[in-house]
Amino acid sequence: MLGIGIDIGGTNTKLVVVNRAGKLLAQERFKTEAVKGPASFIKRLGAAVEALRRDYGRQLVSVGIGAAGDVDPDSGVLRFAPNLGWRNVKIVGPLEKMTGLPCAMENDANMAAWGAYEIELKKKYDNVLALTLGTGIGSGMILGGKLYHGATGTAGEAGHVKIEPGGRLCGCGGKGCLEAYCGSRAIMARARELIKGEADFIKKFADADRQRFNTICLTNAAEAGNAAARRIWAETGRYLGMGLAGLILVLNPGCVVLTGGVSRARKWFLPAMRRVLGDQQINTPFRRVKIKISDDADLGSHGAALFGLERALK
Ligand SMILES: [Zn+2]
Repeated sequence: MLGIGIDIGGTNTKLVVVNRAGKLLAQERFKTEAVKGPASFIKRLGAAVEALRRDYGRQLVSVGIGAAGDVDPDSGVLRFAPNLGWRNVKIVGPLEKMTGLPCAMENDANMAAWGAYEIELKKKYDNVLALTLGTGIGSGMILGGKLYHGATGTAGEAGHVKIEPGGRLCGCGGKGCLEAYCGSRAIMARARELIKGEADFIKKFADADRQRFNTICLTNAAEAGNAAARRIWAETGRYLGMGLAGLILVLNPGCVVLTGGVSRARKWFLPAMRRVLGDQQINTPFRRVKIKISDDADLGSHGAALFGLERALK
């Protein structure tokens, strides 16, 4: 039995076919082109699913969809997707009608959390918190072996937990959010304030093929011994530790999985992050929790496919 996983991104929409063990059998992608509107998108999405069904037929039993934004998992409606500029778009209903397959939709970080739980951790932990550290910060929770939704399906907005009263402005419009310090854009904004002579810095530390002032460049600089870069990463670790400490105290997870582009700088932010976690007074949950980093860039789409299968076959 096979499942389709779909990741609806701002630029591309990715489809994968995986088996129950999470092994990838096929992948496709098409341009999301949000400006053409939801109706056009659903039509193209339905056609892409149909194309996969021509290849895999009855082996395909389910569809799982992850989308960035506020998702209502019960009604299958994408309530708000800031990166697409869409509000209240029905996705699950129309797609089920077109394909005849059971579909489940979740926030993309929830699907990445499910991917971490099934693929990375092989369901060894019942209580898992996953943080996706990219341009923004998302999170998802598996509690008691189930994906946790909260009352409105919004659970897991860890990026907007406040870590600094009246602090830096966040993309959500609030101030002092975790994302306003530890999202990749925010990290580079802090770096820009500290590092003078950006052009020289890029020349020295950016990867040859991508001449950009980004977190890869900042990691290369830390690696080369640049003090400012190391300071920015240590600060990032402290902020991340502060956000994570609160989440760990509330949830008491057995494992925390960090994933996304920023997590590749683990060597430079993890020590400071661990120090903050180690300094907590109520320390039992911190002594027990395992912190894992996943470099698997496909956790979201593969997790979506596995979640769809889990739902359809239970
Ligand atoms: Zn925010």
